Amino acid sequence: MVTNDDKDNEYMKRLKVLMKKTENQSCIDCGCPRPTWATIIQPPNGSPEGSHPIGAFCCINCSGSHRRLGVHLTFVRSITLDTWKEKDVIAMENGGNVKVNEIFESYASSSKPTSTSCSTQNQQQQKCKNQQGTQIMIQDYCMFEKSMRN
Ligand SMILES: [Zn+2]
Repeated sequence: MVTNDDKDNEYMKRLKVLMKKTENQSCIDCGCPRPTWATIIQPPNGSPEGSHPIGAFCCINCSGSHRRLGVHLTFVRSITLDTWKEKDVIAMENGGNVKVNEIFESYASSSKPTSTSCSTQNQQQQKCKNQQGTQIMIQDYCMFEKSMRN
């Protein structure tokens, strides 16, 4: 018999496999090492039927700016603290930092916000950049989904 605990363990195992990939070992927004949060980008309004959410790994600082965008755009989960649903694990498996970055870089009209620093000095500025970046990313994701279907 499969219990909820077994399921939780299975999801955690799958997430840990993803976290071990080189691409997912730095925050998608700022590049900080070993991100332990996930941002699960929802298909925007007007996306084609059957569009799937895709996830990327981010650090705790950047997770805050993703959270503020609202759950209709993306929602944020802690890898270690939150209970996961299978559909969210699948979103992470479908996504990953390289794929989400590729979508961003192929379609973004402005360059992706980057920073190599996690210092508090840069934090406020970085947050603004991230927020703007994520909004662009989500619009681009919509275009990407459409282009895949044409
Ligand atoms: Zn970050």
